[in-house]
Amino acid sequence: MNLSAFPRRRYTAGATPIEKLERLTAALGGPDIYIKRDDLLGLAAGGNKTRKLEFLMADALSQGADTVITCGAVQSNHCRLTLAAAAKEGLRCQLVLEQRVPGSYHPEASGNNFLFHLMGVEALHVVEGGSDVAGKMQEVAAQLAAQGRRPYVIPGGGSNEIGALGYVACAQETAAQLFDMGIDIDGVVLTSGSAGTHAGFLTGFVGQNIPIPVTGIGINRKKQAQTDAVHALCQKLSQKLGLKAPAEREAVVVVDDYIGEGYSRPTAGMIEAVKLLARTEAILLDPVYTGKAMAGLIDLVRKGHFAHAKSLLFLHTGGAPALYAYTDEFWGD
Ligand SMILES: *Cc1c(COP(=O)(O)O)cnc(C)c1O
Repeated sequence: MNLSAFPRRRYTAGATPIEKLERLTAALGGPDIYIKRDDLLGLAAGGNKTRKLEFLMADALSQGADTVITCGAVQSNHCRLTLAAAAKEGLRCQLVLEQRVPGSYHPEASGNNFLFHLMGVEALHVVEGGSDVAGKMQEVAAQLAAQGRRPYVIPGGGSNEIGALGYVACAQETAAQLFDMGIDIDGVVLTSGSAGTHAGFLTGFVGQNIPIPVTGIGINRKKQAQTDAVHALCQKLSQKLGLKAPAEREAVVVVDDYIGEGYSRPTAGMIEAVKLLARTEAILLDPVYTGKAMAGLIDLVRKGHFAHAKSLLFLHTGGAPALYAYTDEFWGD
C-alpha cells in the first residue's frame, strides 16, 4: 500500500507513542496492555480525527475550498478538530450540531463547545436529533456557494474513504513501531463509531497481510448495523487503495455490549474505566468513546475473553476535552 499517491497535510510531528500500561495490566491481572497514544496527535487537543483531516483537508485545499462544513454531536471532537484544521489552514468553518440527546445543547457549555468559540467558528447550526444532518450541511453549502464562497463538506466523523486513509496510515505506523519495539500483540481494541477508524485500521492490517484481530467496541449502533457500516467502508477504501481484496466480513468484529442507554449517555463501566486509567496511568480517556471502549476491554479481560492473549493494544482515539462537559458524572468517591 502506497499512501504517497494521496494528497496529505501533516498535523503531527512523527509517530504517536506506544506505551506499556504496567499498572493497569497489574490491576486487571490479564494480558499485557499496551496503548497507542493517538490522543497525542496534533491540532488542538489531538484525537483520531486529526489523522483523517490530514487527507480531507488536503482534498479540500486541492479543490480551492475557502470554508469547511461538517457535523457532529453537541460535544463533537470531530467538529473541534475540523475547526482546528481550518484555522491552521486559514479557512473558515461552519458546524451543524445534532442534539442526539434531546435538550443537550447548552450554548455556554464547557468542553468542546467552549473550544468551538475559542477557535472562532464562523457559525453553529443546531438541529434536533434524527434530523437530516447531511441535507442541512448541503443547504449551508448551497447558501455559501450562492455568495461566491467555496464550501467543502466533510461527512460526520470524517468517515469516508478519504478520511479513513488516515487510519490506514496509523496501521502502517503501528506495525512498524511494534516491529521496532519487538512487541508481538495478539489483538487490537479500538472504538467503532462513524466507522472510519475501525475500517481504516483493519484495512491497513489486511493490506499489510497482518492477521492480528481488530475488535471494535461500539458506542452507538447495534452490532449488525455497525458491522455493515464498517464493512461497506472497508470495501470503498480497498478499492481506493487498489487492494486485491477488502477485509472479509468475518474480520469485522463489533462488540455492542457497552453502549448502555445510547450514544454519549454515561454508563457505570465508562465511569470506572475513566477513573481507573486516570488513577493507574494518568491517562485521560473520554466519556463518549474511549471510556466505553476501555470499559469493554476491562470487562472482556475479566470475563476471560482474551485468556489466549499475551498482549493487547488499545488504540486511544482522544476526546478528553469532553470530560469537562461531564464533570458531574465523576464527582464522588
Ligand atoms: C470520533 C471518535 C471515535 C470514533 O471514531 P470513528 O472513526 O468515528 O469510528 C473514537 N474516539 C474519539 C475520541 C472520537 O472523537
